Amino acid sequence: MVIYMIELLDEARRLSMFTAYNTNVDAIVYLKGETVQRLIDEFGAEAVKKRMDEYPREINEPLDFVARLVHALKTGKPMAVPLVNEELQAWFDSNFKYDVERMGGQAGIIANLLANLDFSRVVVYTPHLAKRQAELFVPKANLFYPVIENGKLVLRHPREAYRESDPVKVNRIFEFRAGTSFKLGDETVTVPFSGRFIVSARFESIRIYTEEELKPFLPEIGLMSDGAILSGYQGIKLRYSDGKDANHYLREAKKDILLLKREKDLKVHLEFASIQSRELRKKVIYNLFPLVDSVGMDESEIAYVLNALGYPGLAERIFTYNRIEDTVLGGKILIDEMNLEVLQIHTIYYIMYIAHADNPLSEEELRSSLELATTLAAARASLGEIRSPEDFKVGLNVPYNERGEYVKLRFEEAKRRLRTREYKMMIIPTRLVKNPVSTVGLGDTISAGAFTSYLALLKRKGAL
Ligand code: AMP
Repeated sequence: MVIYMIELLDEARRLSMFTAYNTNVDAIVYLKGETVQRLIDEFGAEAVKKRMDEYPREINEPLDFVARLVHALKTGKPMAVPLVNEELQAWFDSNFKYDVERMGGQAGIIANLLANLDFSRVVVYTPHLAKRQAELFVPKANLFYPVIENGKLVLRHPREAYRESDPVKVNRIFEFRAGTSFKLGDETVTVPFSGRFIVSARFESIRIYTEEELKPFLPEIGLMSDGAILSGYQGIKLRYSDGKDANHYLREAKKDILLLKREKDLKVHLEFASIQSRELRKKVIYNLFPLVDSVGMDESEIAYVLNALGYPGLAERIFTYNRIEDTVLGGKILIDEMNLEVLQIHTIYYIMYIAHADNPLSEEELRSSLELATTLAAARASLGEIRSPEDFKVGLNVPYNERGEYVKLRFEEAKRRLRTREYKMMIIPTRLVKNPVSTVGLGDTISAGAFTSYLALLKRKGAL
């Protein structure tokens, strides 16, 4: 199997991939007790406690941040709160020294991953490419950003294509460790679990779209690619102050997909991330899913999607019981209603494909694609990052999680109970790293590994 996996990765690496839209800078602070103490003392424990009770949903001023941060520290739960007031960036930058800056955003993470794996060519498009953002792309000769020069499409490394005046989306990530302690008035707080508090930038200036100048060249980009991975739609806002709205951006997003597919039947994968607003979630599903071939998501997302499609009972069951049978049922509903070629669902213990019976790949082939995906994620979890194709081998030594046999049993049971003749389905347990160096981007790694190996297998059969 080891040799087979390496061969499959080699075949995937011969592909040319396009990925868009979301990138951001993850600025990381390893939080110390003294830093938290300094913030509490500056605003006063009473004021912090009062604001904590109010539980602000967004960060509009520094006290909102301090209150939500202290709340997260007390519970030890990972949380993300949007920063809506752009002017506060200066306050953060003068109050904190960032320990590391890292590539964030699915398109950026996937572009760096595929480039490091030595794929033939990786073209990444993100509408905002400031210098600070561009520098987080890996310096690989197979990685390109599309630019228009003298009316022609030219591919340049992102570091050579940045625009000084572009806005930057910086997500500030405060990593905290269990045992960190500080005083909140009379109370001594000790952080119960390690985790992170994310201040995610949600500014008007950051949007998800393709610049007008580039749009006419999307068919050319589609033609030179074997597949496209699109993500970032969760960053669309329902309304903007200039009058534009989600309908506008989704109409344009639809056009982009059709343009990419105009010159050939380019396979498009949409990586779905959670969307808080049910209204926006529904719009993304109904507008875009019917146009793409493949969708990837995790299991809480499938529950949200089913809820938006009008299956609240099934969604609730998936949330509460996490039963494989319900996820399979939900997956069947989704590929039927949206007519997807393939749906991939990843969870902590298993990864699954659901496709229609006429899918060109056999269930065994689907299995090897999932195997490659979990092996790649395990390699990344072990190493923190994948820097070369050689790193993939590290994943082959990671054992399957201890619930593996149980997972297979439940899946077989689900297959017996549900109507499955019209489908091809495959499930595999994940290779799970006990103490991962980092969990950032693991879901994106699974989806990129699954989709590219799926394409490689189609190619082997002459079906791509
Ligand atoms: P997401 O929720 O989209 O970020 O996806 C996270 C996925 O990464 C999970 O569904 C798992 O399949 C995988 N994963 C999470 N933790 C680990 C780990 N420690 N080792 C290997 N894979 C992991």
